[in-house]
Amino acid sequence: MTASENSNANSHANSDDRILTGECYCRDVRYEVVDAFAYALNCHCSNCRRTTGSAFKPFAGIAREKFAVVSGADALLIYGDAVTHDAHCGRCGSLLYSQVRDGAYVHVTMGTLREAPAIRPSAHIFVGSKAPWYEISDELPQYQGHVTQSGE
Ligand SMILES: [Zn+2]
Ligand SMILES: [Zn+2]
Repeated sequence: MTASENSNANSHANSDDRILTGECYCRDVRYEVVDAFAYALNCHCSNCRRTTGSAFKPFAGIAREKFAVVSGADALLIYGDAVTHDAHCGRCGSLLYSQVRDGAYVHVTMGTLREAPAIRPSAHIFVGSKAPWYEISDELPQYQGHVTQSGE
């Protein structure tokens, strides 16, 4: 399944669900997502650092059907295979989301959201491979590797 086959997120939302929008740096690619993220984390792994150019990547996870690219889907640069991949804007290169967990979930890069979601990152993960020049200065729990979320 390609991103261009996504249906509109609104069709999967209850009428009282809040819809968030997001976009890349050049605004060619826009997406909509239901404000019902299952988890949000700050990932310090080297892949997330490289794809974003940042010390870590704040991302929020949600079921695939609650997310949809609403414009610029044909301009996406897909890095990976059809099931699991990173989706960048093919023009400006922004990392918008990753399709993960056998394609069932997407990890939205929180920096591309236009509105603030209800959720906040709850932990730092892959701190074992974090950038040595970056010091975590908040009180969130830190995990050397992944953390398995409960209640989803
Ligand atoms: Zn762009
Ligand atoms: Zn990562």
